Amino acid sequence: MTFKDLNLSTQLLNALDDLEFETPTPIQEKAFSVVMSGKDIVGIAQTGTGKTYAYMLPILRMLKYSVQQNPRVLVLVPTRELVVQVVDEIEKLATYINLRVIGVYGGTNINTQKEAVSQGLDIVVATPGRLYDLAVSRALQLKSIQKIVIDEVDVMLDLGFRHQLMNIFDILPVQRQNIMFSATMTDEVDSMITEIFTHPQRISVAKSGTPLENIKQYTYQVPNFYTKVNLLEELLSDSDTYHKALVFVGYKKMADRLFDRLDTFFPDQCCVIHSNKTQNYRLRSIEQFESGENRILIATDVMARGLDIDNISHVINLDTPEYPENYMHRIGRTGRAEKKGVSIVLSTEKELEYRESIEALMEMKIEQLNIPATVEISEELTPEEQPKVKEINNPNKRTNDEEAGPAFHEKSAKNSKVNLGGKYKREIAKKYKKPKTKGDKTFNLKYKKKKKK
Ligand code: AMP
Repeated sequence: MTFKDLNLSTQLLNALDDLEFETPTPIQEKAFSVVMSGKDIVGIAQTGTGKTYAYMLPILRMLKYSVQQNPRVLVLVPTRELVVQVVDEIEKLATYINLRVIGVYGGTNINTQKEAVSQGLDIVVATPGRLYDLAVSRALQLKSIQKIVIDEVDVMLDLGFRHQLMNIFDILPVQRQNIMFSATMTDEVDSMITEIFTHPQRISVAKSGTPLENIKQYTYQVPNFYTKVNLLEELLSDSDTYHKALVFVGYKKMADRLFDRLDTFFPDQCCVIHSNKTQNYRLRSIEQFESGENRILIATDVMARGLDIDNISHVINLDTPEYPENYMHRIGRTGRAEKKGVSIVLSTEKELEYRESIEALMEMKIEQLNIPATVEISEELTPEEQPKVKEINNPNKRTNDEEAGPAFHEKSAKNSKVNLGGKYKREIAKKYKKPKTKGDKTFNLKYKKKKKK
């Protein structure tokens, strides 16, 4: 099947031509007629399968030119990075269409975004929080929304957006098409579908957790963190092979620690993203990595889920994710859109059980390689790796009678006050004996009448 076999407009076909996309990916093929039919749809597909165009192609095919002020299509995504990315993808597809698309996300000046949406738009791509703020302040009217796409809904629920999503559903027109995409099917996703969707059609391209066939996976067993870093430095020294490497770490502190080491070793070749970095910093890092200015990007899970960067040569997992799903998401950043990719996971002995769960989920073994002889095996341990020392005879330990007494813990009179609520309320309650309730406006009248009797 080629794109010509789908019922697409010439403008869309030309844009696809420019992008040099000839054949629809499996998810695009499956989603097209369902989205066109107007039915609710749930797609299970990982990033990298072409899912953005799976919903955007039919939506753009159906969207008629209009000058109306309010958006007709709403796309919700979990992170600011994804907003930027999805807007970019839509713009590429709409090269020959007169279309107004705007991305809005939190952490930036809301007034600039209010100004932008006041010019009128067809499609709004947003993170849930900012969209809700814009809607509540009436800067953005949602009454004309015909289709809502919730992309990466599993990540969204993971990040705690459930409540915000529900608030948004409440203010959307009842008559609308719901389109949802998720990389994984979780209980939370399932319960949201039951609550919101009407007889959704489900489509899926790969069993959740199935590795993409074009990713070659390897593993090294490494004694500790610093040996992992040594091995990483050795591997990354081959800049021709590792020309675009995404390095995953478990948490933010680790990302910064690794960045400091690698930046010294490979000056001007590394960048880093995690949620403590400002949004501008993150966007800049992604741009530098995407453009090839920096060939190494260090990232934590949440920040990199859904990242769509072409031609990533390697995904390196410095830690072994405890949740196999996270591993699947990580390696899905490479081997995208029919290209080949390599994934490497480094495991300490403690992490072996995590690796086993990953292998169990994939129903395959990851090929193990030997650490090259040139890599120094470090004896140094991180604070987390050091064994906890039990102090038996600690001369500095306080004896019981020296135990910090109540003086340290007792609150001063000033600080021991309990918050009793508003002063006004208390005074009124004292005056009328009972609290003056908001609900019963005639309470005081009745009370006075009783008093007269
Ligand atoms: P997604 O899964 O939407 O994040 O898309 C992954 C990548 O595949 C993006 O860079 C798209 O531009 C690209 N892509 C989407 N559709 C196709 C297609 N039919 N053929 C080749 N590449 C595609």
